[in-house]
Amino acid sequence: MADQPPRSPATRAITAGRDHSGNSLAPVLWASSTWESSGLDDAGRRATAVRHGDFYSRYANPTVGEFEHAVAELEGAESALAFASGMGAIAATVLALCSSGSHVVAPHQLYAGTLAFLQGPCRRLGIDVTFVDVATPGALSDAVVPGRTMLVLAESPSNPRLELADLDELGSIKGPLTVVDSTLATPLGQQPLASGVDISLHSATKGIAGHNDATLGVIAGERELLDEIWAYAVLHGATPSPFDALNALRGIRTLGVRTRQQNDGARSLAVMLADHPAVSAVHYPGLSEHPQHDLATKQLLQYGSVLSFEVADRAAAASFLDRLQIARCATSLGGPETLVCHPATSTHAGLTDDERLLTGVTDGLLRVSVGLEETTDLLADFEHALADS
Ligand SMILES: *Cc1c(COP(=O)(O)O)cnc(C)c1O
Repeated sequence: MADQPPRSPATRAITAGRDHSGNSLAPVLWASSTWESSGLDDAGRRATAVRHGDFYSRYANPTVGEFEHAVAELEGAESALAFASGMGAIAATVLALCSSGSHVVAPHQLYAGTLAFLQGPCRRLGIDVTFVDVATPGALSDAVVPGRTMLVLAESPSNPRLELADLDELGSIKGPLTVVDSTLATPLGQQPLASGVDISLHSATKGIAGHNDATLGVIAGERELLDEIWAYAVLHGATPSPFDALNALRGIRTLGVRTRQQNDGARSLAVMLADHPAVSAVHYPGLSEHPQHDLATKQLLQYGSVLSFEVADRAAAASFLDRLQIARCATSLGGPETLVCHPATSTHAGLTDDERLLTGVTDGLLRVSVGLEETTDLLADFEHALADS
């Protein structure tokens, strides 16, 4: 075959995951939960094959398989494995790889569901977790106990304060397996596997599906490791819906233009907010004053669509949210609508005051997921809503 010119990820996103679609440009929805066998030998083959798509949908499904192929291609991975949600991916990965007595290293700065999972069910099952400050260089690797640490699980950029784990540092850790929750970056924003990280994990509910119409999780990495996790995942049962996988595949087709527009909007908004008298702090890795801006520039291909900022207190946050007209007050991120949430009363409401402080969730903190609106409209909406606070 003639040499093909290199293709950028945004171009590959247009064609990735088409193996089962024949000549159809759109993926086919395989709603079936089961497949017929031609006899006992055939049934036995299907039942014992690893990740075989024509047996039973909890084991594998062709539409989900297309989604997995697309994510693997974008992550530069040998394989990908989808789950019913981001939390499904996190829970199944941790429980597939850890047992009672295992040690896990994780940052304090985590999605609240991940934190609750590590502190609740994991501790109950005898999985011991050491939490560290991810912004301190070397903190993740220093907390590894040789022979006992099974997993180092980071989130970068982190939710909601946009702190970064150094992916090269994470990837150079030997012994335990390393996982990065890369949700906020999307596969176009960073490539953790290229830094040597074992597993790149996403809540595909967010930027990958990108339209607030799918609940899905996915991990990408080496096939052998993912096959091992799959063997547990079929028993764990956080099985993705083929319909959500179809929606996510459609989302992937436009990931390039969506993330480009959202990144531009987030940057402009961060610059405006950083200059605003009612705002005491802006957390966005694309700002030169972000404490990890150099690391961000080294490892992120895009600074991202999510930022957070701080107003005086909870009352100022409430009045700001009341006055917004374009942006909406809702949790989640990566979709077409700009969403603002107040983590202290929503995503992080279940945490104690001390835990909230450790994750940096102050009473005046607001998280913004920049959507696809015209940036000038969005800036005007935020200026208007801040005018009174
Ligand atoms: C939303 C989110 C999750 C959980 O994903 P679900 O699809 O809601 O289960 C995990 N990590 C991060 C960073 C998230 O934003």
